[in-house]
Amino acid sequence: MNISVIGSGTMGNGIAHVFAQHGFKVSMVDISQDSLTKGLGTISANLDRMVAKAALTEEQKTQTLERISTFTDLEQGVRDADLVIEAATENADIKLDLFRKLDQFTKPACILASNTSSISITKIAAATKRPEQVIGMHFMNPVPVMKLVEVIRGYSTSDAITNQILDLSRQLGKTPAEANDYPGFVANRILMPMINEAIYTLYEGVAGVEEIDTIMKLGMAHLMGPLQLADFIGLDVCLSIMKVLHDGFGHPKYAPCPLLVNMVQAGQLGKKAGQGFYNYSHGTKDLVVAESFKKS
Ligand code: NAD
Repeated sequence: MNISVIGSGTMGNGIAHVFAQHGFKVSMVDISQDSLTKGLGTISANLDRMVAKAALTEEQKTQTLERISTFTDLEQGVRDADLVIEAATENADIKLDLFRKLDQFTKPACILASNTSSISITKIAAATKRPEQVIGMHFMNPVPVMKLVEVIRGYSTSDAITNQILDLSRQLGKTPAEANDYPGFVANRILMPMINEAIYTLYEGVAGVEEIDTIMKLGMAHLMGPLQLADFIGLDVCLSIMKVLHDGFGHPKYAPCPLLVNMVQAGQLGKKAGQGFYNYSHGTKDLVVAESFKKS
């Protein structure tokens, strides 16, 4: 089975890595040559780490890298594919345009999957003439480490394609879980309102940043608190997923917290911006609460 991965950013290079490590030939496609070069570099560095831990041999690393080819031309990069996994920028117009093209450029039997976190699989599928072969394959970050694949059935996705993708996920050593296509699917429908509620709790002065994260981390045995997690995901990404839930369900319980909106408008997007609920100017090892949230 030939795999094409569209996008070589955070998720795309991780998806290409996992397929290649499990013996699949992978074409990695991106509009940016720079992103392809960086993506290959990330895969190589992650494989080195596995070799250092004796989880992989040097020879397996070389074979894995040899199975990956890169393309900036979409048509060339997908023409032999049996499965395309789209992991391009989270923007509905970009994805609809890509799926229209993928429908033209791929073999008729090719399965078209999207790694989208929040865009409707049914809407993406409707841009093609093969909606029964379009499905969500939602990997988690970092892909080589995280076990889950949320498999999302669009309105028209067939049982046969769903079963094939569930089996394939298991072949990659992952655990798939099936969900229907409604806003936020399952993972983000549950995670994002929890993060939004944590931000409301801070906004209303119920507790400070450290207290909220400590209570949720130690009390619920979570790996990190919801505010730190929001910083890691990116506050702009959290806001845009809350808007998808709010628009999709029309229920006030999904209204984004005004503090989240303000922080995004101020450019305090979390770790990638150097500042969110915490300050990352000195790295991520020691958590330092951002100046604006320090108690006077
Ligand atoms: P990213 O910004 O790291 O990478 C996106 C890549 O897509 C870039 O390299 C960009 O050059 C490329 N791209 C943009 N338009 C393209 C096009 N038309 N053709 C080919 N390549 C194109 O983004 P990411 O974080 O890897 O997210 C990718 C997808 O994965 C999104 O749909 C996102 O919602 C989803 N996702 C992200 C995470 C996460 O934690 N980052 C987790 C789960 C799912």
